[in-house]
Amino acid sequence: MHEFIAALPKAELHVHHVGSASPETVAELASRHTDSPVPADPGALAEYFTFTDFAHFIEVYLSVVDLLRTPEDIWTLTHEVGRDLAAQNVRYAELTMTPYTSIVRGIPAEAYVEAIEDARQAAERDFGVALQWIFDIPGESGIPAADVTLDTALRLGPGSLVGFGLGGPEIGVPRPQFAPHFERARAAGLHSVPHAGESTGPESIRDSLDHLGAERIGHGIAAAQDPALMERLVAEGVALEVCPTSNVRTRSVPSLEEHPLPVLVEAGVTVTINSDDPPMFGTTLNAEYAVAADLLGLDEEGLRALATAAVDASFASDSMKAHLREEISAAGR
Ligand SMILES: [Zn+2]
Repeated sequence: MHEFIAALPKAELHVHHVGSASPETVAELASRHTDSPVPADPGALAEYFTFTDFAHFIEVYLSVVDLLRTPEDIWTLTHEVGRDLAAQNVRYAELTMTPYTSIVRGIPAEAYVEAIEDARQAAERDFGVALQWIFDIPGESGIPAADVTLDTALRLGPGSLVGFGLGGPEIGVPRPQFAPHFERARAAGLHSVPHAGESTGPESIRDSLDHLGAERIGHGIAAAQDPALMERLVAEGVALEVCPTSNVRTRSVPSLEEHPLPVLVEAGVTVTINSDDPPMFGTTLNAEYAVAADLLGLDEEGLRALATAAVDASFASDSMKAHLREEISAAGR
């Protein structure tokens, strides 16, 4: 099963740029910036990456953000994330980028976009992985962050920018306040992919559908508490980006055994399996597929269907989708 999953061509739809930094990448960045509290030794880093609680996770995450001080740092992280995805047979990924956190730390938006675009092309050439971008608002930073993120997307967004998102903590960050930003992003042709229903209830998912025009929901697991909402997701063809291990690590769900994934699938909701912040949560996309196979009792055919669901729910070009579907259906035969 693990071998089949590892060889299965996959699309990853919910993975954060900074949250994908491997201990090796962080060690490299820490050795460039020796005044940082982050250790540059990979052994010490493994310990540094062991979280005691969610607050500790945020602290470590922000210390990695603080290591991204130059466009070269952004380039290195992006290129190495491409390498790590390709090593798992991820062929296509929509990487969630938070330009605001780099822009407020002094990297000009133009240089940021240039670095990620250059790294995207290098990753495709070097590792054969296709990357596209989702620019997301760090919700806890409020309207100023939304303004900067929207401005960066509208002014500088390259053709590979396909989505507009909303991340960060959900509690205390009502979704409807960002309606004007999502309206303008959507008018410019970007797809709406906010996080909702991760640490808050079904109402944040409803708000995202009603006020932000959500086409996919980041997490959305709280829909399992609300049969009418699940029916609506099915009727409107809105897929969920489910990240099982992340939900346990952030204590949105008490244990993998109690994860609502089977309830969502039973109701007919389209689910995709994703990894969120994989090295920080001690997981990989392949490990998440194994978790899903276990929770849903999937065989090889079921795993092919799961991988295909992510392709169908992606914002890849039609030709890329057709190619990926073919590759998936040939896997293991
Ligand atoms: Zn996320």
